[in-house]
Parts: sequence; structure tokens; C-alpha cells
Amino acid sequence: MLRLHEYAYHRPSTLAQAAAFLREHEDAMPIAGGTDLMPNMKHRLFTPRHLVALKGVRELHGIWMADAEGRPVATGSPDATQLVIGACTTLSEVARSPMVQAAMPSLAQAAGQVAGPQIRNQGTLGGNLCLDTRCTYYNQSFFWRQALGFCLKKDGDVCHVTRTGKKCVAAHSADTVPALITLGAQVDLVSADETRTVGVDPFFVADGQWNMVRRRDELVARVRIPLPGASVRTGYTKVRQRNSIDFPLLSIAAAVEFEADETVRRVSLVVSALGSRPRVVTGLDKLAAGQRLDAVAEAVAQQAFKQCHPLENIIVDPDWRRAMVPVYVRRALLGLAPARALAA
Ligand SMILES: Cc1cc2nc3c(=O)[nH]c(=O)nc-3n(C[C@H](O)[C@H](O)[C@H](O)COP(=O)(O)OP(=O)(O)OC[C@H]3O[C@@H](n4cnc5c(N)ncnc54)[C@H](O)[C@@H]3O)c2cc1C
Repeated sequence: MLRLHEYAYHRPSTLAQAAAFLREHEDAMPIAGGTDLMPNMKHRLFTPRHLVALKGVRELHGIWMADAEGRPVATGSPDATQLVIGACTTLSEVARSPMVQAAMPSLAQAAGQVAGPQIRNQGTLGGNLCLDTRCTYYNQSFFWRQALGFCLKKDGDVCHVTRTGKKCVAAHSADTVPALITLGAQVDLVSADETRTVGVDPFFVADGQWNMVRRRDELVARVRIPLPGASVRTGYTKVRQRNSIDFPLLSIAAAVEFEADETVRRVSLVVSALGSRPRVVTGLDKLAAGQRLDAVAEAVAQQAFKQCHPLENIIVDPDWRRAMVPVYVRRALLGLAPARALAA
């Protein structure tokens, strides 16, 4: 049996209290649904002395429309420019939200493909953004890792994937993030002394040990997603061993903006579960703009293939994973769904 270590459990009721707890205790960690943190604690990957529980903080819950200044407005209001999702909103709530389904189908699809129903009922969007990176040599029990001499990400000094001691390449594995990047989303980060807003793309860095710019005393308070226009269609596909529960072996999100004559104006494509941060595929507008999507889907898929190089950080053959990149990019592009207007 894997036992937990001893820790103090704090239940703040406001965001300010939660931020103050994190500031006060250097070895504190926030916990939302606990679906990632608890297994990791049982594996001794994290041993915080204090947990700051976020689910009782009302300000962190809910999904609402807002105007350009961030003020809540009624659904369907002509002033609505963004959708705001509180960090403690569960993945089931995101996946089932009529607002998310209508305005940004790829995000509803991505949230609906995280793990299985029980985990989606408990796991949150904020926890998904801050999900720890994953690796064959890291997500193991203490005894397993000890037998191998540990690894660069935790307790050791060598990466068993690259066989050097320079850089951890554990995989970014959160499903909602590729969709959020293609949608141009931003996160509000709150600490005891400041609030700052960062794009979801620059939120991540290529360092598997800690792959985000969030400081340990900062909380993700909410995610802000600009409402895509009616000319934008979005989609999400994921490769996993068991469709009922597993983390992605590859995840692909696409957002394509069309002209009135159905030719492509702009393509945004993100592939993840490769390295420590999601990969934004570049050079697509030049390749696709002005053409019909079915005519350029293959070229877009091949551009992704060229830029994506899976590593041995997940227990599946990297060459096979690479071969699947163009297959699933084509599927994502062919399955794009339009944004629908929301009734007031
Ligand atoms: C069997 C299994 C299958 C899974 N499959 C998938 C999958 O397919 N796709 C996927 O994406 N995930 C998967 N997960 C991981 C996890 O369930 C989800 O990523 C979930 O969204 C995590 O959210 P949580 O609220 O439970 O996070 P927690 O476990 O509470 O926290 C995760 C991390 O985020 C930090 N954190 C949480 N909330 C905040 C916040 N508001 N601000 C700052 N830091 C915060 C915590 O300190 C911790 O480091 C799986 C987990 C299990 C056990």
C-alpha cells in the first residue's frame, strides 16, 4: 500500500487567504481536485508539509461571459468578448457547459477526453493547467525510482531518456492546454502581493522539472478565452492506449479561421505530449492561406510531422508516435466544428 506522509490541510474560503497561506508556508502546495497531486504524493514525488485546499474558495468557481474590461455580462450580450472560467471549475462542468460547447467546441472536447468520468467530476481546469509533467522514469513508486538511481526530475542527476544530466524532458500531458493555446487564452495568476495575466502559450517553458512560469506562491485564479468569431472552427484529437481513462500519447488541437468564400485565412495548430511544453506548429498561414482546407490538410499534416519529434519519455515507441502525428492532424482538421452564436 502507498501511504501519504503527514501534512497540515488548510481550508481557506477566499482567494486572498489562500494566497496568504502559500506566502506564509514555503513548503505549501495548492490542491484542487487532487487527482494529480495525491498519486504524486503517494509516490513521494511531492512531500509538502502544508496543503492549501482551493475547492472551498467561491471566487474560483464558475463559467461566465465578460466584456473587454473583464466585467461579467449576460450570455449572448453584444458586449461579451471573452469567456471566463474559474480555476476550480471541474472538467465535467467545462465539457458540459453550453457556453463552452457553443463558443469553443475544441475545449469542450478536450475537457471531455481527460481521464474518465469520475476524475473529470473531481479534477479542475486550474489543476489541468498546472498538471505536473510526466515520464516513464518519474511516475513510479519511490522503490521503483530508487532501484534505478532516481532521475534528473526528482532526487537524481541523470535523465534516463536523453542519458545526460542537462535537461529534464518529461512530457507536458494536459489535454485542455493545446485547445486553450489555439484559442489564444490567458491565465490570471494571483499571489499575496500581485495579480498578473499571462498567455497560456508563454505560461509554459521547455523544462520538464517545472514547466511553467507560475511561481510556487502563485495561484491560477481563472482562464480568459477570447470569443472566437463565427468564421472560426475548432477541433481536438487525442491518441491514448485506452479511450476510457488514459493520458494522451499525443494530443492535437486546431483552430482555423475561414474567409466568406470558405478559403482559409489562418491556421493555429498545437501538438502536445511530446516534450515539456506544447509545440505550436509554425509556418502554417503561409502554407494554407487563400486555399480550401481539404486541399491543404495534407500539407499541414506534413508540416506538423516535420516539426514534431516524440521522445522515449512515454512508454510507447517514439517512431510510431511520430507516424501518428499527420494521421491525427488530418483527423482534427476534418472534424472541425464551428462556433455557434449564444442566445441571450
Ligand atoms: C488515472 C488518471 C488518468 C488521468 N488522465 C488524464 C488525461 O487523460 N488528461 C489529463 O490532462 N489529465 C489526466 N489526469 C490528471 C488529472 O486528473 C487532470 O489533469 C486534472 O485536471 C488535474 O486537476 P486537479 O484539480 O485534480 O489537480 P490537483 O491534483 O489538485 O493539482 C495538480 C497540480 O496543480 C496545482 N494546482 C491545482 N490547482 C491550482 C491552481 N488553481 N493554481 C495553482 N496551482 C494549482 C497543484 O498544486 C498540483 O501541483 C489523469 C489522472 C489520473 C489519476
